[in-house]
Amino acid sequence: MLQWLLEQDFMPHGHCYFWRPDILWTHVISDAVVALAYYSIPITLVYFASKRKDIPFREVLGLFAAFIILCGTTHIMGIVTVWKPLYVIDGMIKAATALVSIVTAAVLIPLVPVALSMRSPAELEAANLLLREEVERRRTAERRLEAAVENLYRSNEELEQFASAASHDLQSPLRAVVNFTQMLRESCAGRLTSEDQEFMSYIEDGGKRMQSLITDLLQISRIGKQEAAPEPVSMDKALEQAKRQLQANIAEKGAVVEVAGPLPEVMGNVAQLTQLMQNLIGNAIKYTSAETRPHIRVSAAREENLWHFVVADNGIGIPEKHLRAVFVIFRRLHTEDEFPGTGIGLSLCKKIVEHHGGSIWAESDVGQGSRFHFTLPAVQSTTPPDR
Ligand code: ADP
Repeated sequence: MLQWLLEQDFMPHGHCYFWRPDILWTHVISDAVVALAYYSIPITLVYFASKRKDIPFREVLGLFAAFIILCGTTHIMGIVTVWKPLYVIDGMIKAATALVSIVTAAVLIPLVPVALSMRSPAELEAANLLLREEVERRRTAERRLEAAVENLYRSNEELEQFASAASHDLQSPLRAVVNFTQMLRESCAGRLTSEDQEFMSYIEDGGKRMQSLITDLLQISRIGKQEAAPEPVSMDKALEQAKRQLQANIAEKGAVVEVAGPLPEVMGNVAQLTQLMQNLIGNAIKYTSAETRPHIRVSAAREENLWHFVVADNGIGIPEKHLRAVFVIFRRLHTEDEFPGTGIGLSLCKKIVEHHGGSIWAESDVGQGSRFHFTLPAVQSTTPPDR
């Protein structure tokens, strides 16, 4: 095999040039320069690939390098065969070059569409610039939003402090107005005309109404302030307590409060959850027509980490367009004469539920009744009671 490869029974290529130095050296020097140039290209490619690990089609670079080295070697053989007729080796190298060039071309052609679809560095730079501008715009918007939230938070705090202080400080002068009016009525008994009596009762009623407004406002401003950590609260107990507070109203209207199975325990503040039940059941009893005997049904169902409660009544109902508005503070759908109230009850419920991490909403069929839904966080180890 080696003998075959090194077979030299041929004429050296120099003979074809008649050993004329001008032709011979033109070929030799040109071949040498071309070979040198060819060999330098793979070195540059290897250096480039070692510096840029992210370049695409790295494997094709290897094929390129092999192809170029072989091309260079065919030129070296062009020099060798001027003096040494190693045409077999020369042919073998040419064949190898042909093979590698076919493989390179075959690999390269399908890569053309992929390469064409790739973004050019200029395009990437432009996209990058746009992206940077967008990031900057968003950062500015975010900073503005943070400042606005901070401002809102502060003014909300100030408002709450104001409401709390004002309602607290208003309590005692108001108590004085109500008490002294009562005393005046007693001490002037017999000397007052019926008109005077009427005016006196306006003062008393106004004073009492203001007292309940202040009490409700104070309650709302206290949610979330200096309270104990949430603890498991039995909603059955909260409901019982609420019913006890509403005993007079329940008895007066002959209301029935039905509970669909045992109510679960939730995480929270017992006083607030009792207040929540009291407001919802109190409203359910209050907002019924005179001919209707209030029937209230309380139920609960587990939904992942929450308990979903429903307080359903057979009252007058709420028109669809007011279903959200009723949770806004001071928003009332009736006059004081129709149904007395402060317009704070449901907004207090909303604040309590949201403070517990839940949500509250209402559904209603006018003339048939309403359903108040709210969610509260379950005690983690709680399993749903058997229904
Ligand atoms: P208040 O009862 O003191 O007016 P609320 O905030 O508790 O204040 O309720 C706001 C309004 O929502 C009430 O004025 C009433 O019109 C309506 N509302 C509340 N609960 C019910 C209910 N169960 N059925 C019908 N209307 C209701």
